[in-house]
Amino acid sequence: MLSEIAEKIQICVACGTCVGGCLVSRLDKRFRPMRIIHTAVVDVNRLINEPSVWLCSYCYICSERCPKAVEFPDILTRLRNYIAKHGNLPAAYKMLLANISKHGTALELDEFALMEREEYGLPDPSPSQETIKEIKSIINTSGLSVFIREG
Ligand code: SF4
Ligand code: SF4
Repeated sequence: MLSEIAEKIQICVACGTCVGGCLVSRLDKRFRPMRIIHTAVVDVNRLINEPSVWLCSYCYICSERCPKAVEFPDILTRLRNYIAKHGNLPAAYKMLLANISKHGTALELDEFALMEREEYGLPDPSPSQETIKEIKSIINTSGLSVFIREG
């Protein structure tokens, strides 16, 4: 899996453009795309317990501005998959996955939420039971259900 990104992370020239343009980095000093890349180059296993890898909002500003086309967000997705496979998927993601599997939506729409939507003239977006069944089947087939059982 990591061999797929090895070449990409090695072309980073440490210019810092990704950090300069990143809004998350501005708000949270723990998060530095360039530092994540360099840690991955030195020893990817150091990222397994690094909470900042989950802060990226995937706005792709870094990717648009990078002079070397490193494509940090796509690299980060691979790194997150690696970390998850090593048992460190954050509880919040497990909860989202459990909700999607159970309700077909990332957040459960309770009676209050549905009433509020109705007040604003918004339709009930709840997926049908058939759709939820299909979503559950995709989660099972892809192997993601293991994270739900762990959570
Ligand atoms: S902008 Fe690109 S080349 Fe510059 S530090 Fe970030 S990833 Fe590396
Ligand atoms: S995609 Fe992530 S790392 Fe890149 S600029 Fe947006 S928040 Fe920052």
